[in-house]
Amino acid sequence: MNKIIFKILRFSGLPWLFRQIIQNNKVTILMFHEVSKETAEQTFSYLHKKYNLINLNDFINAIVNNDKTKIPKKALIITFDDGLLQNYEMLPIIKKYKTPVTLFLCSSIINTNRHYWYKHQGLSKPLAYYKTLPNQKRLSELAKDGFIQDKEYGKPHAMSKNQIIDMSQFVNMQAHTKFHPCLPMCGDDVAKEEIYGAKQFLEKEYGFHINAIAYPNGDYSERDISLTKEAGYQCAITVDGGYNTLNSDLFHLKRFSTNDTADINELIVKSSGLWYFLKSLAGKKQN
Ligand SMILES: [Zn+2]
Repeated sequence: MNKIIFKILRFSGLPWLFRQIIQNNKVTILMFHEVSKETAEQTFSYLHKKYNLINLNDFINAIVNNDKTKIPKKALIITFDDGLLQNYEMLPIIKKYKTPVTLFLCSSIINTNRHYWYKHQGLSKPLAYYKTLPNQKRLSELAKDGFIQDKEYGKPHAMSKNQIIDMSQFVNMQAHTKFHPCLPMCGDDVAKEEIYGAKQFLEKEYGFHINAIAYPNGDYSERDISLTKEAGYQCAITVDGGYNTLNSDLFHLKRFSTNDTADINELIVKSSGLWYFLKSLAGKKQN
C-alpha cells in the first residue's frame, strides 16, 4: 500500500517543489541503518544528482564560524546509525561516488559478537514497549527473552575493527553510545557512561576524532544534552524531523529517517522532507 502512496507522491511534483523551494537554502540530514550494495549504488547516485552532498564536519564548521560560503544550495548529509555489519559492503560505492558519509558507532558492540537489543530474535513484545521502561527494567525484560547486553553470540551484528578502520579512510566515524540504550530512561551514572565512554573508547582504541553523537532511537532529554556538552562533543544529532540552517542549535540537529530498501519513490519522497511534513500534519511520527 505504501509503495503506491510513495509513487503517487513522487509524481505529484511535490518532492521537486520541496527541493526547489525549501531545501534550496537548508541543510538536510538523512538517517539510514543498513543498505545492500545495490541499494547504496542507487541511493547515492540519486542523492548525488539532486543534492550537494557535504560532510557533517563541513556543516559543523560552517555553524561554528558562521560561514555561509561553505554551504552549497540543497546541501545534504548522509548518516548511518549503529555500525551494522552490512555497512562494510557499501565501501566500494562510497569510494566510487566519493560520497561523504558519517557512521555512528556503538562502541561496546562493534568488534564483538554482542548484539543490538532491538535486532534480537525472539523478543516477545513490540520494540516500543521496551523503550518505555527504565533501563534496568528494560534489560531484565530483555533477559527473559534471551537477550543479555554483554553476551557474545554466535555471529556478530556489527562490523569488526579491521572493517571500521578500513572504512574510516573514506567515512567520518562518530559515536552512538556504548550499548544503544534509551538514554532518557537511564539513571545519571549510566547515561554519563554511555555518552562519555563511547567517545573515550573510539578515540583511544581507534584514534578517531569524535565530535558528534547520534542519540539511539533519537531519544534524549535535556540531561543528555548537558552530558553531551560536558563530554566535549561539538554536536548532537536527533531524529526530530526537519531541516537545518546555519542558525541551528548544534545540539539539536534534525534528521529525516529514510528507507534502507531499494524503493526509489520512497527515497525521493522521504529525502525531500515531504513524508515528514505529511506525517506531522497527521500528528504522527515520521517513520
Ligand atoms: Zn541506532
